[in-house]
Amino acid sequence: MADFPITRTSTPKPKPDEDNLAFGRALTDHMFLMDYTEGKGWHSPRIVPYGPIPMDPATTVLHYGQAVFDGLKAFRGADGTIRLFRADRHAQRLNTSATIMCMPELPVDIIRQSFDALVSVEADWVPRRPGTSLYLRPSIIATDVMLGVHPAHSYLYFLILSPVGAYYKEGVKPVKILASDTHVRAVKGGLGEAKTAANYAASLAGQRDAEKAGYTQVLYLDGVQRKYLDEVGTMNIMLRIGDEVITPPLAGTILDGVTRNSALTLLRDWGLKVTERPISIDEVMQAGRDGTLREMWGTGTAAVVSPVGTLGYRGEDILINGGETGELTRKLYDSITGIQYGRSNDPHGWTS
Ligand code: PMP
Repeated sequence: MADFPITRTSTPKPKPDEDNLAFGRALTDHMFLMDYTEGKGWHSPRIVPYGPIPMDPATTVLHYGQAVFDGLKAFRGADGTIRLFRADRHAQRLNTSATIMCMPELPVDIIRQSFDALVSVEADWVPRRPGTSLYLRPSIIATDVMLGVHPAHSYLYFLILSPVGAYYKEGVKPVKILASDTHVRAVKGGLGEAKTAANYAASLAGQRDAEKAGYTQVLYLDGVQRKYLDEVGTMNIMLRIGDEVITPPLAGTILDGVTRNSALTLLRDWGLKVTERPISIDEVMQAGRDGTLREMWGTGTAAVVSPVGTLGYRGEDILINGGETGELTRKLYDSITGIQYGRSNDPHGWTS
């Protein structure tokens, strides 16, 4: 691991109650920072006490949203070992997001080293209760001070950490989702593939309206025809129709989810037929009506898998698998969490 300069806090915070960790509220004692200056490249990596980043009101990120981030987790196994799940793939995706957003490349090995270095400084913050983890939020923001719209010449990379509670405290629980034909998250040629602030801003109104209508999350359809499934909230979407697992392809409008990739890999390992193809909401609703839609689930770092119990679209609700968690959904959940916590072996070398 690289040796980064560390300034330790003189006022460490008390650790939060592990039984009541709201997502992203508690933040650890230190953060990792690194600057980019045009002509000089990335420089001055350092670990410092966690705290505000003073900013001029004319800083470009505040106006034009040139910002990317990622999200991954470190898990404390029953053996006490702390494991990061697919850290290299997350580092790579941060870089891909940066490229889409006209930001300078940040060497993936440096991102990776920042994860290891900060988690090692904050090892005591990795919670111990079953199902808990330490969430890592690496981000890059544009730091030019001026009001013109253009890719910035200076950037800040920062990494912050937050202990998070078990997503499913009372067992895996199916959700009710609403396919929206009014709100659009991303279009081809836009930013859908990047983990960038604008995509989350674009999802707020859809989420608000879905909640008002009694649903937990929004299933976004493609932005042109409003016909094909894109993704759900902050998760990728998968369906089991008959004996086939189907998921929308990576074609420019959705995020290349790390959990999506992990689930597809495992499903193929298990010999299942897995197809990445456009799938229309009409096909899904029809499969729901005729009983061939056996399971549907979202995949993402936060929940691992989230079974869909009810799918709503244009006033019709389809109950999936009697509103219960399906067998494949459960098997994926158990297998991925087994690898994350070191309970089962890790045939693809995903943890480190
Ligand atoms: N889609 C979106 C829009 C997301 O924000 C996320 C969460 N990062 C995902 C999908 C799932 O990605 P991952 O499995 O890498 O967490």
